[in-house]
Amino acid sequence: MAQHPIVCVTGATGFIAAHLIKKLLQQGYAVRGTVRKLSKHSSYRFLENLDGAAERLELIEADLLSPGSFDAAIGGTQYVMHTASPYLINVRDPQKNLVEPALEGTRSVLESCRKASSVKRVVLTSSIAAITGAPDSNRVFTENDWNTTSSLKENPYHYSKTLAERAAWEFMQEQPGFDLVVINPFMVIGPSLGASLNTTNQMIRDIITGVYPGILDVNWGFVDVRDVALAHIRAIEKPAAHGRYLCSAEALDMRNVVAILRKAGYGNDYKLPSLDLSGKAATTLMKLVSWSQPRDTGAYLRTHLGRRMRYDNDKIRKELDIQFRNIESSLLETVEDLISWGHLKKKS
Ligand code: NDP
Repeated sequence: MAQHPIVCVTGATGFIAAHLIKKLLQQGYAVRGTVRKLSKHSSYRFLENLDGAAERLELIEADLLSPGSFDAAIGGTQYVMHTASPYLINVRDPQKNLVEPALEGTRSVLESCRKASSVKRVVLTSSIAAITGAPDSNRVFTENDWNTTSSLKENPYHYSKTLAERAAWEFMQEQPGFDLVVINPFMVIGPSLGASLNTTNQMIRDIITGVYPGILDVNWGFVDVRDVALAHIRAIEKPAAHGRYLCSAEALDMRNVVAILRKAGYGNDYKLPSLDLSGKAATTLMKLVSWSQPRDTGAYLRTHLGRRMRYDNDKIRKELDIQFRNIESSLLETVEDLISWGHLKKKS
């Protein structure tokens, strides 16, 4: 019987990784997923219930900060998808909590791939955060752009993703014997396979439950988690895949997001914002108010308010054959999913 190709997915419990594992199993791959603590069964039990998991999913413990930790999971695999990285805003110590795991973890995973010598290709989950730390209404971003503005003080999550991706490309200059393909997603939304609430879906929850004081002049690119998973798999299945792939279906203003949710009737049960704070004067005021917010939220607002995000997603559509799902439907599915997991509180 032919052997199934083995794919290692780091950070198996994550929002994106879980979809990736589900799809890989559906397509007949054998999967080695890494989890931070095997003793925390509740965090990954849902993965064991996926179709095909009993026969073809193996979970192995690995930590981004322990040198050599990924050797066991990567040894003997043909492909590695490195998704594990802290996706957190407002951490106490950005160097320790974001930069070190992102950067050292990426180097550690690549080093284990070199040692394994069975690995043909690594797909790294980078981010739009490595492309820009501040949208610019006057230009269109592409895979040629790099974030040169973020730092430990300003958007440290963006900084951690930029350093990790740069380190990966530097590592490749040593010709380690495998290829690297990078996926750079924007805000990833969609249904979650596990109970935990990831940072982007948390933002949708915040919009619908009145955490924002009103409708701000802010604009995001969105992509469905199932498309992100598909892009990772196409990146191993298409031999010609190369370089970076900006992965985003559509950019929407917060105003559009709120309108979609209101039209679907969520305004009746939830505190959707209605105060329009998207004009020029209100945006200036919001930038001042941002200084009263937690450090990273404040910096994010100051670098994103009043700016449109424009980008070109041609490369991923043409080379990886991705036809993006409709974002309005993904948004609505996200909300239904948040409700089904009990993450949304109705207004009283
Ligand atoms: P999640 O927070 O859902 O998953 C992150 C994963 O990384 C978890 O499995 C987590 O394990 C693991 N992890 C974090 N720190 C460590 C560590 N020290 N050692 C081992 N594992 C660790 O995030 P997403 O699925 O949303 O994101 C996955 C990847 O995609 C990240 O690289 C993120 O930067 C990137 N990305 C995400 C976007 C989004 O909108 N969601 C957009 C663009 C990029 P544990 O469960 O133990 O905490």
